[in-house]
Amino acid sequence: MSLWPRLVPPAGAPLTAVDVGRWLRAAARADAPDSLAAWLRHQTGAPWAFTISNGRSGLSLTLSAFADLAGPSRTEVIVPAYACYTIAASVVRAGLTVRLVDIDPATLDYDEAALARVDTARALAIVATNLYGLPSNLPRLDAFAQASKLFLLDDAAQALGARVGGRASGTWGDAGIYSFDKGKNVPAVEGGAIVTGSEAVARAIERRVAALPPAPLAKRLRQSAVAVASAVLIRPSLYWIPNAIPQLGLGQTIYDPAFTMSRMGREVAGLARVMADRLEAFAAVRQQHAAQILAGLHGVHGVRPIRPLADSTPAYLRLPLLAESAAARDRDLAVLRRAGIGASASYPASMVEVPALRPHLAAGSDAVDGARHVARHILTLPTHPLVRGTDISRMLATLAAADAAASPLAAHA
Ligand SMILES: *Cc1c(COP(=O)(O)O)cnc(C)c1O
Repeated sequence: MSLWPRLVPPAGAPLTAVDVGRWLRAAARADAPDSLAAWLRHQTGAPWAFTISNGRSGLSLTLSAFADLAGPSRTEVIVPAYACYTIAASVVRAGLTVRLVDIDPATLDYDEAALARVDTARALAIVATNLYGLPSNLPRLDAFAQASKLFLLDDAAQALGARVGGRASGTWGDAGIYSFDKGKNVPAVEGGAIVTGSEAVARAIERRVAALPPAPLAKRLRQSAVAVASAVLIRPSLYWIPNAIPQLGLGQTIYDPAFTMSRMGREVAGLARVMADRLEAFAAVRQQHAAQILAGLHGVHGVRPIRPLADSTPAYLRLPLLAESAAARDRDLAVLRRAGIGASASYPASMVEVPALRPHLAAGSDAVDGARHVARHILTLPTHPLVRGTDISRMLATLAAADAAASPLAAHA
């Protein structure tokens, strides 16, 4: 028994002393961002890869590159109404308009009928989100994009390591992005990358990346300090410390299009490159944890899993579930946190409910009942490599007890 409470963070990965030594050597080299890009090309099979300050800069810059190629009549970007707010912020940052389309709660992907109704006359691109590492229906979105003559951006910020039909998430469509932020598949404090298989898109991206300023020195120093601090504080025995500091804003999602865009610093590039060597091992553990939780939830009636796409290999960055009511979701989150499990409600609302985004929404973005439903019913469970078997037993026992207390008849049936 430890003196301090165990709190399993929502996302995370271990950094060992050996990793720190490798990191210092990798970060000493000015070409650290290039070797990260080379690793990405090798890992994903994408012919072109570019590193950048973070995933949102990658999204925004890629959309601007698409606009360079498509001309000024294409001003709208199709985005699912329930997803990371930074996607919408990146669209706005590129000077474009957001067209929200509803999602299907069964898959968290676009609602097929809603997508078929979209007016694409002014659409530049559609974004696939691959939330929680469960691949979007990329063959369908690819066909939609081609039929409507728009670009497909495969946002794999949560899905590095996932595949659809053997093809890496992020490499579908015209370009894809990855994130190396602290909560992602290969966590390195902050960072992003863009990949593409199209030479025209690669040239347009290359021109825009070359125009970016280098990472500011103050930022690079802060990132290194944060990397060292989080390597220690991400441990479940210590995570209660950062979790108790509201100023850190852990797990918060804010809409802010005023982010700084720069090239990637060599410190985070070196860290991402070291962590990248563990991607396969991390992914295997996340998949195994997700499978254990899903198997253990069979008798629990109050929560429903999300159906992965057929012929896909999800990365399960987290395990998303839908509770049977909004009240049950809030109760499940509370009891899980009391049990020391960093369960999270993910994004607090659908994007149509973000007031600062409203002026940037295309008309007709309001019919998003599926997204509103998911925002109130979703809970996500941690699957990362710091989760232990006993944590999973505790998650399952906690959810089963909450379920039995809420529906005594179902428990006896
Ligand atoms: C995290 C995330 C982003 C943005 O990546 P950052 O590196 O945090 O800027 C974009 N899209 C999705 C789906 C994400 O989860």
